[in-house]
Amino acid sequence: MSTYRQMYYRTHKEQVLMANRKYRIANAEEVSKRKKAARAANWDKIRAQERRSCAVNREKILERKRKCYLANKETICGEKKAKYAIDGESVRRYMKQYRTRDQYREQRNQYIANNAEKIKQRERKYRMTHRGLHAEQARRAYHERPEIYHAIKARRRAMERVASGANYTTATHIQHRKEIWGNLCWICGAVATATDHVKPLAAGGSHFPANLRPICKSCNSKKGSTWKGVNHVNMFAKAKGCHL
Ligand SMILES: [Zn+2]
Repeated sequence: MSTYRQMYYRTHKEQVLMANRKYRIANAEEVSKRKKAARAANWDKIRAQERRSCAVNREKILERKRKCYLANKETICGEKKAKYAIDGESVRRYMKQYRTRDQYREQRNQYIANNAEKIKQRERKYRMTHRGLHAEQARRAYHERPEIYHAIKARRRAMERVASGANYTTATHIQHRKEIWGNLCWICGAVATATDHVKPLAAGGSHFPANLRPICKSCNSKKGSTWKGVNHVNMFAKAKGCHL
């Protein structure tokens, strides 16, 4: 900018700004087009700048967002609900993709931990009002993936006994344990139909994956809750030709 223009700007600031504003309003389309073109031409630079600025002002931005959300909670929730009602499918698709991100997972776990009682009540209420539907859904889900339900049941048993690992082990962990043993009973080698706690829960065994092995129904009932120590288990398995 030339010195003359700078001086003019300083003395006629209001007029200049007003003129600029007028020009922008009168040529809105043209201005927007030019802006978009400039942004596209310098996209990488602009994005880098924005990222840097976001990183520096992260706390400030989050605080502002939080405030804005709290002030407009009703409107925002209403809009979200309306969008979901119109096009739930695309929202669900987006969320599914988003859910795999670690950050979201952490947030969700936090929410579950903070609102356990509220969630439980909400679910109970839903089940009561959708009774038949829930039973039908549960039946269908069970037939599709029974191992999930077996895992949940095993966890419930473990929790009743206040076993360590009850909150840790998932159906996937159990599936991996089964795969290690080729889905065969670890004692006799028959097709496994249950999950065994090698050191029984009743004897203080844990529900961590390391204590879980696939077992057949017959061996499971024979073994029961007997526990004579690790050496006994190893001998038991070696006598059957199993390798631990
Ligand atoms: Zn067996």
